[in-house]
Amino acid sequence: MARYTGPVCRLCRRERTKLFLKGAKCDSMRCPMERRPYPPGMHGRGRIRESEYLIQLREKQKARRIYGLLEKQFRSVYAEATRRPGITGETLLQLLELRLDNVVFRAGFASSRNQARQFVRHGHVNVNGKRVTIPSYTLRKDDVLELRPKAKNMIVVRHNLDTIDRQVPAWLDASTSEHRASVRDLPIREQIDTQVKEQLIVELYSK
Ligand code: SF4
Repeated sequence: MARYTGPVCRLCRRERTKLFLKGAKCDSMRCPMERRPYPPGMHGRGRIRESEYLIQLREKQKARRIYGLLEKQFRSVYAEATRRPGITGETLLQLLELRLDNVVFRAGFASSRNQARQFVRHGHVNVNGKRVTIPSYTLRKDDVLELRPKAKNMIVVRHNLDTIDRQVPAWLDASTSEHRASVRDLPIREQIDTQVKEQLIVELYSK
């Protein structure tokens, strides 16, 4: 499956905000946003005229980059959100949150969504007792994910469980000792802490 493989800290600098794509580095002084909080490139510190389109585009790019999706993948999630009942922007965020790689990250098993995605691709995660290797797999209410036996003993996983101090969202039940998490309920907007204005994304795609 296609994914962005370039330098990720540039993405934060482009969006002028921390997107937390690198795990522990993001909370340290080694984060480039601490020293260079302006867009990359020779015109990074220049003045930019912020049009309505630019503001909407930046919001969409920010969401896309936080969840690690390419444009085509993000578009198809949006298309699915428009087909479902409810507020499109909120449904879009709900679908993004319910991606398997995101849930592995939210449960605290991985330091970043990129790492969670790798765990899934490498077959370290079971959903309802069956191995699932598709990071975009959408979980449903009452689905249970669990790390497979080999993954439970991996140094990187043990390190994550010992060091990550991340609040598990209210819609998720996670037990780090059992290496298991289950979807208690579908996430609602108030339970999603992603700092994006989803309405701007809907406006952009509705043009
Ligand atoms: Fe973004 Fe993390 Fe890189 Fe900082 S360290 S720029 S928050 S990805």
